[in-house]
Amino acid sequence: MDEHIDGHIMDEHTTRAEARIHWPGLRLPVTVLLDDPTPCRNPAWYEFPDQGHEAVVPNRFTEEFADLIDRTGAAGKFSVVPCPGAQGRIDEGMPGVSDEEMAGFLRLARERIAPRWDISPEMLTHNKALDLATMRPIEEREDVWAARQDERTLTPYIARGLEILRNVGLEPNGVTSPWAFGQEVEKDYARAIETALREVCGVRVGWYFLHIDSYSPLVPPRVARLDPAGADGGTALVSISTAARQSGAGHYDFAWRTQFGEPDDIDALLTADGTGGRLAELYANGSPLSFHTHWQSLFSNGSGTGLAAMGRLIERINGVWGERVRWTSNWPTTPRRAPPPTSPPTTRAGAWSWTRRSPAPSLPSPCQSHPARRRSRSTGRRWNMPLTTRPSCTRAVGAATQEEPRPYAFPYATAPSWCGDALK
Ligand SMILES: [Zn+2]
Repeated sequence: MDEHIDGHIMDEHTTRAEARIHWPGLRLPVTVLLDDPTPCRNPAWYEFPDQGHEAVVPNRFTEEFADLIDRTGAAGKFSVVPCPGAQGRIDEGMPGVSDEEMAGFLRLARERIAPRWDISPEMLTHNKALDLATMRPIEEREDVWAARQDERTLTPYIARGLEILRNVGLEPNGVTSPWAFGQEVEKDYARAIETALREVCGVRVGWYFLHIDSYSPLVPPRVARLDPAGADGGTALVSISTAARQSGAGHYDFAWRTQFGEPDDIDALLTADGTGGRLAELYANGSPLSFHTHWQSLFSNGSGTGLAAMGRLIERINGVWGERVRWTSNWPTTPRRAPPPTSPPTTRAGAWSWTRRSPAPSLPSPCQSHPARRRSRSTGRRWNMPLTTRPSCTRAVGAATQEEPRPYAFPYATAPSWCGDALK
């Protein structure tokens, strides 16, 4: 992590390894990656039609979600599925959903959610893939289809989802992968996302969500692509991961089981006293705090117990860390280049910013018993530089390896905690 934001700005010679992402407001970012929001309907009802899920998600529920984020200041990303269940497109009206109902959802998304949360499509259907020529489903699920695609076929597919969201007045600035869409062809996938975001939305520094990183001590955003000399004044793409770990109950999503009337797992992320859980581990390491959940998990088939659990979790985070963390959307901003006219605003409260790394970072002491102290150039404050948790490894982690998180030999939970006062 870097505490001075006045470093060099990127120029056309900047490489991916040199690009550095700054924490907004120099505080630890915390972000919720909310998957699967589907206008007016329960995504689980489309995906598992035989499981007896409640079909209709009333707009009153979406309003309650908006009230919650207003009340708590929580931020993150919010997917909107453009062609739910492969049964229609939300910009042309969905079968069984009245125009008024659809308009109500979209108004809430535009006016109450998008000001603080980033909007992304979650591919087109979160179900069967579509033939773009006819917009009819083919027999394969989107993730299965994607595994055999390349940049040439993925770009128009992603672009179609972005276009549909723009048609309903939303301004996506990233892409969410349904399931592990694109994982097998990630290089092509990342290029396709970058091109589609630039061409359809005028977004040159975009993001995508594909990966889960449950055990790394640090789970920062990773610069997946960087082309400062590219079209329209340069482009880049940042990969945002969730850091959630599978709980004892077998789910990564703290609210998943509420769909079945079972309890939530917020303690796996942060215990009530603030000392345990995955987020406490990340905090101790000076890592951004990221976790994910699903629209169907918050809706809980009509009971809303998942949303209530999310409210408790957010209040817990705010209560334990307060001003030491900042709720953050996914969208990294670059301060220098003027955006093309179609671009949404270049800055928003709580967004990431970035610059060229300056100068080559000095690595802290590799000794685990004596974590290196670093001093902020701008404020004179000192903090502990996190080190790797693997005793045999002498390589320090932190700003020096920010763009390439790597897997660790064993869970952090079993390693000594030596930098709990980081960022105090
Ligand atoms: Zn999903």
